Amino acid sequence: MTIQNNFSLKNYNTFGIDAKAKQFVAVHSTQDLKTILQQNQSEPKFILGGGSNMLLTQDVQALVIHIDLRGKKVVKEDADFVWVESQAGENWHEFVLWTISQDFGGLENMSLIPGNVGTTPVQNIGAYGTEIKDTFVSCDAMNIASQELKTFSKEECNFGYRESVFKHDVKDQFIITSVIFKLTKRNHKINISYGDIIKELEKHSSSAPTLKEISNAVIAIRKSKLPDPKDLGNSGSFFKNPIISKVHYEKIQVLHPEMPHYIISETEVKVPAGWLIERAGFKGKRFGDAGIHKNQALVLVNYGNATGQEILNVSKDIQATVLQQFGIAIEAEVNVI
Ligand SMILES: Cc1cc2nc3c(=O)[nH]c(=O)nc-3n(C[C@H](O)[C@H](O)[C@H](O)COP(=O)(O)OP(=O)(O)OC[C@H]3O[C@@H](n4cnc5c(N)ncnc54)[C@H](O)[C@@H]3O)c2cc1C
Repeated sequence: MTIQNNFSLKNYNTFGIDAKAKQFVAVHSTQDLKTILQQNQSEPKFILGGGSNMLLTQDVQALVIHIDLRGKKVVKEDADFVWVESQAGENWHEFVLWTISQDFGGLENMSLIPGNVGTTPVQNIGAYGTEIKDTFVSCDAMNIASQELKTFSKEECNFGYRESVFKHDVKDQFIITSVIFKLTKRNHKINISYGDIIKELEKHSSSAPTLKEISNAVIAIRKSKLPDPKDLGNSGSFFKNPIISKVHYEKIQVLHPEMPHYIISETEVKVPAGWLIERAGFKGKRFGDAGIHKNQALVLVNYGNATGQEILNVSKDIQATVLQQFGIAIEAEVNVI
């Protein structure tokens, strides 16, 4: 393990921001992780997975620990289900493709989400009607202060919409080292009602789609809608979809009857942040090298040499305008560092 000083993180975050880490080290085993933590007790630490959910607005004055623990295996099975454990540093999409190649069902709708397996519980990642909490069993995490491993059950993770205990009660206290998922071996619970999956599957006339066909459909839809960070720096959806009260929604609806919405409960309604941002006039706008994607108002982009601060300024401008026009506060999904 080599600790590097003044290390550029440009290739380690999908926004492509050229911020520097005071120190950087990649760890490949839990023993390495333990050693690094023990040897650097007094240093501030920053945990880095795939860098696909962060906006670096400044240099990171910390020891950046890049989690690169690898390996995946079946740890238990019965006639219907299989329990699969993956180490935190495995690439999520490659892991999903591997489960599909084994005909294990449950993760196919979350194909092509960037990042690492170990980060998936942090914000309970989700797409196309599925979230990690639907198949999550537990995760192991190392306590940064004591270096002890603790197993977090699903209940302890306290998952919500892009939320978990790792963003709140135990924030910055634990490093997730592995995750266990319970997947189906047969009678897969196919979920194709969301978004354009059915439309995409129809192109290939699949009446009883396989896991692979669903995954391919999701990949095709995502590729057609979202910019690839390799071509255009971004972090996916920059904001969460706000949840507002039904009373508030009804007031806005008088002025904007066409506003899309999803009923969450008798008293709450979720509104697409992308629609609000588009209506506020930001879609496709560019401010120097920072901007809003031309097809996806929810995605902020780096056209080349934007700084994290410039992208943050654009995001604040969007938040203020949406608040002024609709009375709705939209919250960043991306971790602003
Ligand atoms: C093009 C694009 C599309 C996306 N689409 C989706 C989507 O559909 N659904 C969705 O939910 N997300 C989506 N995202 C966001 C992102 O892919 C997920 O949030 C992903 O889980 C982040 O993983 P990462 O390893 O890159 O995390 P990082 O960006 O490296 O880290 C994110 C946060 O977690 C912390 N962290 C990292 N690793 C660990 C660990 N092992 N233990 C504890 N804390 C850790 C970091 O300190 C940081 O605060 C998208 C991103 C992009 C760029």
